[in-house]
Amino acid sequence: MTHPYDLIIIGAGNLGLWTAYHLAKNNFGRIAVLERNWAGSGTTTRSAGIVRQQGGSTTAIKLGQWSRESYVRIGDELGLDSGFNETGYFVLAETPDEEIAFKELVRLRRACGLENEWLDAKEGAHRFPALNWEMFRGATYTATDGFVNPAIIARNITYAVTRSPHVSLVEQCAVTHIVPTANGFRVHTTRGVYESERVVNAGGARGSNAIGAMLGMDVPVSAARHTIVTFPTTGHSVTGKFPMCFMLARGMYWRPEEQGILLGFSNPNEAIDTSERYQLDFDRAYLDEMRPIFEKVFPTLRGQHISRGWSASIDFTPDHLPIIDEPQRGVYVLAAGGHGMMWGPALGMKMAELVQHGEVSDLPQDEIVLSRFSNAPRVHDAIALPFPTTSA
Ligand SMILES: Cc1cc2nc3c(=O)[nH]c(=O)nc-3n(C[C@H](O)[C@H](O)[C@H](O)COP(=O)(O)OP(=O)(O)OC[C@H]3O[C@@H](n4cnc5c(N)ncnc54)[C@H](O)[C@@H]3O)c2cc1C
Repeated sequence: MTHPYDLIIIGAGNLGLWTAYHLAKNNFGRIAVLERNWAGSGTTTRSAGIVRQQGGSTTAIKLGQWSRESYVRIGDELGLDSGFNETGYFVLAETPDEEIAFKELVRLRRACGLENEWLDAKEGAHRFPALNWEMFRGATYTATDGFVNPAIIARNITYAVTRSPHVSLVEQCAVTHIVPTANGFRVHTTRGVYESERVVNAGGARGSNAIGAMLGMDVPVSAARHTIVTFPTTGHSVTGKFPMCFMLARGMYWRPEEQGILLGFSNPNEAIDTSERYQLDFDRAYLDEMRPIFEKVFPTLRGQHISRGWSASIDFTPDHLPIIDEPQRGVYVLAAGGHGMMWGPALGMKMAELVQHGEVSDLPQDEIVLSRFSNAPRVHDAIALPFPTTSA
């Protein structure tokens, strides 16, 4: 027996679920979201949840702004906490070159309608004295940046989707192969066969590539190790408002976490991880290497023991920008380029637009189409973690 749908979305992570949500709201038709584990179990709930509107390209900035709005709105819509915490965010410049580049980005962000300012180190020290500003030239700052609690986000968007009579979320349903038919696609899964004219590949770090291969196309989404640790307290030096901070060149950031602090980092010497696992070996060696640096920058962390820590697969594309495209008739590709928490709701909104109206408005096409990877990249997201330089 086959199950007929108007659209099949493969992957119930932040991206697939927000796509289903927007389409259901627009009364698109019958949608199946097929998930091999359970909603949110991939990269989504392993993330730090940073929502940064201070992007490094037009696409990054707009997606950040739209997503922040969506997170807040859906909380109101459901009558539940949105999971969004507005803290403000310092993106710290260590070198004169970074200072020049960051000031340029302030202009771009303002042109996109985002409140963003350059602060010199003196002003930074005035606003957040707990940080060792002697190490920095200054920072860009947006007061409305913040972070989401990934578990709350997964709950909210899953709940919103399952409330819709138009969406079937099918968990423990792994897509194994896809066969083109005269009218669309027959999607074979561990829970039967699903049919539809259209299929969205929202498989994330561990699925996009393999699902692309099932459809005979190359989807350059790779996975690398990314590590998070939390510390139980904020120490004595943090009083009052605790903003998030990002040391771009070092690939390290921190934010408040319950009563303490969450620190995330990418090891720039990391290679692409082909293990297919989400849970990866904890990067203890790099944590130890970074400890003298983060203790110097943020002295409140000095000597603090870790309360939790994990290393997991983060997705990335060669230019760290997303893919929102229909490269073949009826085949849609949606990928976050490693920013699926700060961009997820907006990526879902834009994918819904593409499915319903055949085009994506208000974003530069050459920053989102799959075919851009066949040419020399025109642009990349300048504010991204250091990743392996090659891709799948
Ligand atoms: C440690 C860490 C910290 C991060 N911090 C941040 C952050 O602060 N801010 C930010 O913006 N981003 C962050 N990210 C990245 C962010 O989490 C991802 O970009 C985002 O979760 C991607 O969402 P997704 O829906 O594309 O992928 P996923 O959440 O991985 O969802 C894809 C789903 O597809 C399913 N799937 C795959 N293949 C199949 C198949 N064949 N059949 C059925 N189902 C399938 C998977 O099981 C999975 O549930 C972080 C990532 C990590 C690892």
